[in-house]
Amino acid sequence: MTEAAPKKEQRRKFQAIRGTRDLLPPDTALWNHVEETAHAVFGTFGFGEIRPPIFEPTELFARSIGQDTDVVSKEMYSFEDFESSALLDYRNAILIWKAEPIGSGPPGILGTGASAQYKPFADRLANFFVLAREAFEKGNVPRTPENESFLKFFEGEMQSFHAKIQSQTIAVLENTVQSLKERSRALKFGDSLTLRPEATASVCRAYIEHNMQQLPQPQKLYYIGPMFRRERPQKGRYRQFYQIGAEVLENVKPDPTRDAAKELAKDAITDAELIQMLMTFFDRLKLPGVQLEINSIGHAADNCRRGYVALLKSELEKVKDKLGADSQRRIETNPLRVLDSKLEHEQPIIATLPKIADHLCDDCKTHYAAVKRELELRGVFYKENWRLVRGLDYYMRTTFEITAQGLGSQNAVCGGGRYDGLVELLGGPPTKGIGFAIGEDRLILSLQEAKDQSLVTSHQPPFVYIAWMGANAYAAAVHAAKDLRAAGTRVELPPVEQKFGKALERASKLGAQYALILGDNEVAEGTWTLKTLADGTQQKFTEPHLLDFLKKL
Ligand code: AMP
Repeated sequence: MTEAAPKKEQRRKFQAIRGTRDLLPPDTALWNHVEETAHAVFGTFGFGEIRPPIFEPTELFARSIGQDTDVVSKEMYSFEDFESSALLDYRNAILIWKAEPIGSGPPGILGTGASAQYKPFADRLANFFVLAREAFEKGNVPRTPENESFLKFFEGEMQSFHAKIQSQTIAVLENTVQSLKERSRALKFGDSLTLRPEATASVCRAYIEHNMQQLPQPQKLYYIGPMFRRERPQKGRYRQFYQIGAEVLENVKPDPTRDAAKELAKDAITDAELIQMLMTFFDRLKLPGVQLEINSIGHAADNCRRGYVALLKSELEKVKDKLGADSQRRIETNPLRVLDSKLEHEQPIIATLPKIADHLCDDCKTHYAAVKRELELRGVFYKENWRLVRGLDYYMRTTFEITAQGLGSQNAVCGGGRYDGLVELLGGPPTKGIGFAIGEDRLILSLQEAKDQSLVTSHQPPFVYIAWMGANAYAAAVHAAKDLRAAGTRVELPPVEQKFGKALERASKLGAQYALILGDNEVAEGTWTLKTLADGTQQKFTEPHLLDFLKKL
């Protein structure tokens, strides 16, 4: 008898979710190399690593990134987190409920018998309601105003449903059942959590939570890890992608004797140091075609950015008809973002718009000039781009972006800016901040597109395949593998005896540089033969000499 064929679902092939992907060897070696370089370079600038959780309260991102941004309004992966499984069971009981069919005939007013048909549904509603109210009172579901009004509303609906089952037609009752099912979903069982779409908010939250303002200032932190945004996937744009980012956070103590000019100069140095670190990192990686663009977007005051945005808005109104739908919408929601537009036909229009540099307040002008001076002092090349804006309110003064080669339209590998005030917005003390986020996926793509990967491959340890034959040779091979690995060599020890020809063939296939030949003769003599696979040459070594030789590679 043969076994029954597996059902279709059992044979289903699982695939990574759209916009996510597996990072596989040998590519992961490059990822590790990039991350090790980040640890090394950022360490030399005095940054320490922070590893915040992958999910946080939805509210944290909504408040920091902003409700009106694409990220918050449509790209976040959010879910409700709760432990109250009994409530869930009761709600499911409502959701799956169906009226028992009654005899045929046109749907009419229910008789007393038929009203009993809808009574079980009314009972389920009541059970759910009682449990929900109890949970709310005990604080087992969030005691939010939304949940409170849900309970009030639901109670009323429930009572009117009771009345309806005595008097309404089946069609009306069926509609009410559907709408009550939908309503029942509105109770929030737990807090809304979100897979982080970026990590700046988490770092600020951690700064506040751990009272980092009491530590030496500024706090310099960096992170490496996955972020999640429901974007339209394409080359260089994923739904799970990785960022390497850094933030400098500095508590501002109230100090009436503070010298404003000195403060601006100090901030400019912080900005320039951070950008220098970033460029050092890209330089170390030999990232091809790196271009740094900078701008200042002033600060939120009437004599600075607010005034400029008002002017920009009125100028945009005048040319509204010539703009595309996205830009037209942005005139209302966020006029600065119009400057981001890549639409061909909008470019000449945008070129004639007023420039923010002409509308900065004196402090922001001084700060921007100092940032440029400090970058020059550090030998960091930059290009000014007056259209470089960050769409979020909390960004101020310095903004920057870095592009690299080989990435097509998604060529930004890094974005950053100053965000004094964000920590305060999240409930912390007055704090200055500046940071950046590098798109690691794009950085890797750009490195892979670059022809010269010698830097990466030169980091690989020597790779030796042990071709052993005979029981004595096997014991010596196990021993040799242990010693070679301890010395940092990559070793492949085949689990079965192979003829030498076969062994060499497999060694080449795996990409080994050397085959260590161990037969009973070699073991008896205590000398081992190392064959260089690229040219077929052979050398004899004693074990200590062999280790020396491999260490020097
Ligand atoms: P942002 O946090 O939006 O300022 O993005 C910072 C950097 O992260 C960008 O310059 C990109 O390199 C990278 N990035 C943003 N979104 C994605 C995505 N969906 N897929 C891959 N990389 C991304």
